[in-house]
Amino acid sequence: MSYLGKCAFLKSAAHYSQIPATPQKRIAFWGRSNVGKSSLLNALCGEKIAKVSKTPGRTQLINLFSITEPEAMICDLPGYGYAKLSRSQLKDIALMLEGFFSQASSLDLLCLLLDSRHGLTKTDLEILPIIKNLDCPIFVILTKSDKNSKNANHKMLQKVQRDFAEHLLTPPLFLTSDLSKESTLLFEKLAKAIKEF
Ligand code: GDP
Repeated sequence: MSYLGKCAFLKSAAHYSQIPATPQKRIAFWGRSNVGKSSLLNALCGEKIAKVSKTPGRTQLINLFSITEPEAMICDLPGYGYAKLSRSQLKDIALMLEGFFSQASSLDLLCLLLDSRHGLTKTDLEILPIIKNLDCPIFVILTKSDKNSKNANHKMLQKVQRDFAEHLLTPPLFLTSDLSKESTLLFEKLAKAIKEF
């Protein structure tokens, strides 16, 4: 079942200039490598549209998908913080992301994923300046919430909210999980917000 209408893979871009200029809204998904970005996109689309890997750092391209509810293009950005990539690979990714975010006036929404067990980590803090520079709304999604107790999730939501507030950011927060009994409800809530932002 798809929460975002019809989803279709468009292309993988090695450079931001390869992203087609379309009138659709652009929604980017970003987060630390292994945070569960591919799993979340697959769950929202109801099909294996993004690769799921047990090896962190596999997505080194910007993968583009179209969705119909809302009409938008999803930009699945390479995960950051993957130590095992070579220096030149990391440099290539950094340059690509720099290019992407320099064009970010055309970005309509950034969904930033954090692991619900760790919240805002040191690695996440490194990309915060980029986010603070953006001129679009940001959603923060705490993934893998099945790995926490209900109480731990509740506390983490409060902590993440405080951590962002310290940086003068007040993004709406969402919990998601591939495996919890409440998965459907959590995905519905997120999809609704993506439709209405
Ligand atoms: P990506 O690198 O951010 O795209 O992360 P993936 O989606 O490839 O997921 C990384 C690992 O986390 C995989 O082993 C997934 O099976 C696991 N994972 C992803 N989402 C969840 C979740 O909601 N719950 C649990 N328990 N594991 C998850």
